[in-house]
Amino acid sequence: MRSAMKTPLFALRRKGRLAAMILAAALGAVSGCPAAFAQVPAMQASQAPGYYRMMIGGFEVTALYDGSIPLGVDLLKGAGSEELARLIEHGFVPVSPNGVQTAVNAYLVHTGKNLILVDAGAATCLGPTLGAVSRNIEASGYSVAQVDAVLLTHLHGDHACGIVGPDGAPAFPNATLHVAEDEAAFWLNTEIAAQAPQDAQPFFKMAQAAVAPYRAAGKLKRFKTGERLMPGVEAVPLHGHTPGHGGYMFASDGQAMLIWGDVIHSHAVQFVRPDVSIEFDTDPQQAIASRRQVLADAVKQKYWIAGAHLPFPGIGHVRHAGERYEWIPAEYAPLPAN
Ligand SMILES: [Zn+2]
Repeated sequence: MRSAMKTPLFALRRKGRLAAMILAAALGAVSGCPAAFAQVPAMQASQAPGYYRMMIGGFEVTALYDGSIPLGVDLLKGAGSEELARLIEHGFVPVSPNGVQTAVNAYLVHTGKNLILVDAGAATCLGPTLGAVSRNIEASGYSVAQVDAVLLTHLHGDHACGIVGPDGAPAFPNATLHVAEDEAAFWLNTEIAAQAPQDAQPFFKMAQAAVAPYRAAGKLKRFKTGERLMPGVEAVPLHGHTPGHGGYMFASDGQAMLIWGDVIHSHAVQFVRPDVSIEFDTDPQQAIASRRQVLADAVKQKYWIAGAHLPFPGIGHVRHAGERYEWIPAEYAPLPAN
């Protein structure tokens, strides 16, 4: 604010009386007096495009915002409601009557050879506040037709529904879909689906509907846990949230980023209390064990993290804060000059 005020005062000396009058009018508007010449502009009422870009060695990573969704605090298990409320307040996380503001992010990685999308957002599966991934791919300068591989961290609707367009055809018509074998074996198994409780049925339906057009076109590829998928791209098992949940480690020129899917749903709570699980975990104890392991590894190895539900762009580092962990978000920066 101070330097913004200095410029007009310097200008005042240079440009004389007319400038003095304009400045007086502007300052009058700031202090609440009506401005004689001011035409108040309409508020823009729209957000900046939902993408953020950075390099990991020779790989170009574009974070894509799908939107945000409120998650009820009562979905978090393993801590008392007072402690949860205190941690969320301590983290300055916006809370509405519908729940805690939670981002949904996807990531596009250009390796120099492939244009790989990791997760694809919710499309229309989970309401109107989500579904912007395809739009933000276009806003970021790429087209959905250029994506040649889609890697899913797991088959929940907020990651998988976006792979299908409104017409039921693949939203990424030239992409092969890669899903972990363990994950596909669970969600795409009609017997398991038939035996699942009623409230789990929508999860199975969303997963099966998302995969269907790729499967029909022979473009569904199942990979084994820990497999190297492409040069510099490795699948990392992080089981528990779902049976085959996993991340993808992208490594290039001595740098690395782990796109870890749903290791953390509440950054305000789970970096401090990694032992807090979420209602959607199919195996909460396994999910907690995976979270503890990957947090410790991320601190030790110092690689970048990109998280589907961390505050957009969801990219940063993890460090120790005493016995706890702490999230250090990436700072907005220009891309290095070529
Ligand atoms: Zn999710």
